[in-house]
Amino acid sequence: MASQVYHDYTGFTNVTSFSDAFNNFNQIESLNVFEKLWGSYYYYMGNDIFATGLLFFCVHELFYFGRCLPWFIIERIPYFDKYRIQETKLPSNQEQWECLKSVLTSHFLVEAFPIWFFHPLCKQIGISFQVPFPPITDILLQLTVFFVLEDAWHYWFHRGLHHGVFYKYIHKQHHRYAAPFGLAAEYAHPIEVALLGFGTVGIPIIWCIITKKLHLFTICVWIILRLFQAVDAHSGYEFPWSLHHFLPFWAGADHHDEHHHYFIGSYASSFRWWDFVLDTEAGPKGKQSREQKMKVQAEKKTQ
Ligand SMILES: [Zn+2]
Ligand SMILES: [Zn+2]
Repeated sequence: MASQVYHDYTGFTNVTSFSDAFNNFNQIESLNVFEKLWGSYYYYMGNDIFATGLLFFCVHELFYFGRCLPWFIIERIPYFDKYRIQETKLPSNQEQWECLKSVLTSHFLVEAFPIWFFHPLCKQIGISFQVPFPPITDILLQLTVFFVLEDAWHYWFHRGLHHGVFYKYIHKQHHRYAAPFGLAAEYAHPIEVALLGFGTVGIPIIWCIITKKLHLFTICVWIILRLFQAVDAHSGYEFPWSLHHFLPFWAGADHHDEHHHYFIGSYASSFRWWDFVLDTEAGPKGKQSREQKMKVQAEKKTQ
């Protein structure tokens, strides 16, 4: 059965390779290059369930490790040492290798199975995968909503994971590295991966159940951006051009590194507002801002 990625295949010639598929889609002038590539991929694969599963698995591997690679190189160039947040020594090659093995095992054993159920689930709840894609304004709005909601989910469940048995049996694994590095972003217990991963995958699903409006391409872009955010937050580097200098509410490595360093506080993933409003910012900077707030409040009372 041909893919359901497009509604009308009249005029399409026989397809034996990806470039044949692309040549067919290339004739549809109303599609942009991303839509043509997306359509060709599904059409060439000829099995939508397999195509979605493989696409998401490859996107995860490619963009996670692809984003770790520049950090891996930067760590080995002494020029960048002055930008390291913590002066402590980086974990050894052996320790990083252990981390890589653990992350890969979790990708292949834990994630490789449920991913094949993703396409049937999308069909069930109405996440579309056909071309053309929705308008860019819809995509941008949904990405913003996902970032804000995931951050809230992450803040509360991550904060919860720091309590008693949850920490001892689940979250302790992620805190093995007090000075994190990119690859350590997904170094976590499988229960933590599922719980915090729900913020990334479950929120778009709930969004679609409620609004009936979501495209698989948007989820793909969202996952890539979220992977970049997570890897960068663990990079261990703070540059004068880091994003939070331009967007003061963006968390970045500066924020999450303090969480690993001081262990208590700075629980959110992408933004600083939860930790700021609820007074849970980590480290000396957090302490200073808490003291400042208390001082302002005390002055107000005495006036
Ligand atoms: Zn933690
Ligand atoms: Zn972390």
